[in-house]
Amino acid sequence: MKHRFHIASDEDIKGGRVTDVYFARTLEILKVKGIEKRVRAEFFAKKLPVNYGWGVLAGIEEVARLMEGKPVNIRSFREGEVFYPWEPVAEIEGRYADFCVFETALLGLICQSTGVATKSARIRLAAGDRTVASFGARRMHPAIAPMIERAAFIGGCDGVAVIASAELLEVDPMGTMPHALILVMGDTVEATRAFDEVIDRDVKRVALIDTFNDEKFEALRVAGAMKERLYGVRLDTPASRRGDFYRIFEEVRWELDLRGFKDVKLFASGGLDEDEVIRLKPIVDAFGVGTCISNAPVVDFAMDIMEIDGEAVAKRGKWSGAKDVIKCSSCNERKIIPLGAATGECACGGVFTSLFHPLVTEGRIVADLGEPKKIRERALQAIKGLAL
Ligand SMILES: [Zn+2]
Repeated sequence: MKHRFHIASDEDIKGGRVTDVYFARTLEILKVKGIEKRVRAEFFAKKLPVNYGWGVLAGIEEVARLMEGKPVNIRSFREGEVFYPWEPVAEIEGRYADFCVFETALLGLICQSTGVATKSARIRLAAGDRTVASFGARRMHPAIAPMIERAAFIGGCDGVAVIASAELLEVDPMGTMPHALILVMGDTVEATRAFDEVIDRDVKRVALIDTFNDEKFEALRVAGAMKERLYGVRLDTPASRRGDFYRIFEEVRWELDLRGFKDVKLFASGGLDEDEVIRLKPIVDAFGVGTCISNAPVVDFAMDIMEIDGEAVAKRGKWSGAKDVIKCSSCNERKIIPLGAATGECACGGVFTSLFHPLVTEGRIVADLGEPKKIRERALQAIKGLAL
């Protein structure tokens, strides 16, 4: 395999070559010994990063794509669904020899996507009804930018910066202007005027106002020059100059309002996380969040065998047997139960339904994988009212 970049090809991944060697050696042994045992294994996380209380599942579409055409059955939570520690979120069943070399890739697909979607959902909750754009593609390998930004979008970001990612999501990419444009043009107002002159009318005019001078005076200059054509101003103030970021925004807001520019929106970016978003939310209309989302801590899902040839069996520390996770549709009470056990009625009188759905049956994708927009709606619904 010769690649221009240091990435595995689709064929490498589908062919089971992105595998820890011990699985390949296990397969070699199973073949020589003629072991044909059927196995059920489940994916779950004992603990979430930084002791988060919950996560948002992502990466399931790619799991389906990876196992498509292979003789296995998979059932799983839907993407965008909330899960808690210890809850299985997916289960694979088949001849162990048919899927053992895919464990590395399967885990990689859900651990990273879910980490990003979970962080994005946390930012969403922190930001409330404010706009959030994913700006962090530049911190990650470009080959995985679409995956990262899809997960960020599913988790709750309103938009993504990268063109290729936005195409995958069937949304318009979101962005303002870089410092580079202002540096090259030599002046904030000149750069904003040029942007207004050249760029498609549908793109909102948001001036970046921290490049050369004080944010307040630049905001007033740009607003004065652009009048009602100016949609907003972005402050990406460097940490070395920031002092109290909230106070800077407050001052800019005051000065703009005083001169009749009440409609000019305030955008914040630059090293933001949940805490900073919560702090700035009262004064800021939109956030560009970068590294915090794209470099989100991964969720440590494990894939553990819990049934062999129909017998419940698991290693020490893990619960054996196939399981179901059920949720009350009225009060959201959740339970892990043995697969096939009676769900009973919830104490609130509500009805329990399973969070598991067939994803792949004998190598055929049977689930409606859903458009990213719909998955995002599901996630927004599921995280409503959750604590950060
Ligand atoms: Zn209930």
